Amino acid sequence: MNRKYFPLARIDLEKLARQYPTPFYLYDEKGIIENVRRIKAAYSIFPGYLNHFAVKALPNPFILKMLASEGLGADCASFSELLLAEMAGIKGEDIMLSSNETPAKEYETAKKIGAVINLDDITHIEFLEKTAGLPELISLRYNPGPLKQGNAIIGKPQEAKYGLTREQIIRGFSLLKEKGAGRFALHTMVASNELSIPYHIETARMLFELAVEVLNKTGVRLEFVNLGGGMGIPYRPEQEAVDYQVLTEGIQIAYNEIIKPAGLDPLGIRTEWGRIITGPYGWLVSRAVHKKEIYRNYIGLDSCMADMMRPALYSAYHHITIPGKEAAPLSETYDIVGSLCENNDKFAVQRQLPKIDTAADNGGAGGDFVVIHDAGAHGRAMGFNYNGKLRCGELLLRQDGSIVQIRRPETVDDYFATLDISGLKNFK
Ligand SMILES: *Cc1c(COP(=O)(O)O)cnc(C)c1O
Repeated sequence: MNRKYFPLARIDLEKLARQYPTPFYLYDEKGIIENVRRIKAAYSIFPGYLNHFAVKALPNPFILKMLASEGLGADCASFSELLLAEMAGIKGEDIMLSSNETPAKEYETAKKIGAVINLDDITHIEFLEKTAGLPELISLRYNPGPLKQGNAIIGKPQEAKYGLTREQIIRGFSLLKEKGAGRFALHTMVASNELSIPYHIETARMLFELAVEVLNKTGVRLEFVNLGGGMGIPYRPEQEAVDYQVLTEGIQIAYNEIIKPAGLDPLGIRTEWGRIITGPYGWLVSRAVHKKEIYRNYIGLDSCMADMMRPALYSAYHHITIPGKEAAPLSETYDIVGSLCENNDKFAVQRQLPKIDTAADNGGAGGDFVVIHDAGAHGRAMGFNYNGKLRCGELLLRQDGSIVQIRRPETVDDYFATLDISGLKNFK
């Protein structure tokens, strides 16, 4: 079991919604920071631990700056994400570029700001050399193929487009050494939203063994291994959160068994977690607008999958609570839906919930708040504008209890910003 919390009471929300109308994302600074400190404490047993926060999970420079002040770096996969990291004051090797099908411009930017470049393919060694030029420190991304089971979201490594094969990793490091690179790192990313501790320990073990093989076959001594992202969060209340202590103790056993006897100690340990860092500490807050009773009972919200698409995209479960009705019986069965002209625009299907009052019940105003949990990662970030929907804004609950807007909601001007309609009048 894990406790699904929401930091504001209904009365606070009423007040907040007068200043910032729903829908909006709310993030809890205290929750995020305490979580980061727990992670860092557990990983402090390893040399040079660093988590590069996967910017794609929550690409907001205020959040990135907050994480940077807690000692986190950034993991970027695009030109704009590199700019976001820089904007937040994250510098040099605290930034990792783990992209794929990378254009030259991205490599050039990464090289210029001194980010760690993580190559997704063996052909990129030459590509990088001919474009941005090879940096001193270089990382290779490993795809274990049939040697590692995948997981539900990311799929089987053998079918995944990412990374180099085992044989290419060995060849790649030899080649890099020949070409004069001086510092080396190894990366993998084989899971997404994985809650199994043994799975993550096995990933570390696999990379440690490969680090030893690289040393033996090429003479290259890795500076660090990056175990990637993919740490799961317990979206369902009955699931257990990963215990960082148990996880790191397991990784330490593998480290002592494999890395130390090979003479590779100290080997830096890095991760690239996004979801687990901010996910459980963010919520999409909407209000119920309409109730509809046909073959099923529907509650229609003022948000839609354009604000958050995980449930529609992966049938992902997101817990839902109704502030002020925490203790009410779960007497109703609803589909909680958005307003998009797509029938998969459902935040929850056949969910047991308390009876929900809508704006329609109140003559058009008010309506219960509907809080969608675990929306702090891959939430607002995956929003889109289909159907002319305008994405909502983001609020941050500071540690002192104040609330700041860290992104305003979109306006129609934003929606039309890429159109130049000056030629429309004479366009026939
Ligand atoms: C998405 C991604 C991450 C972050 O994954 P989470 O599931 O958010 O922890 C890290 N590294 C790479 C290369 C990714 O693509």
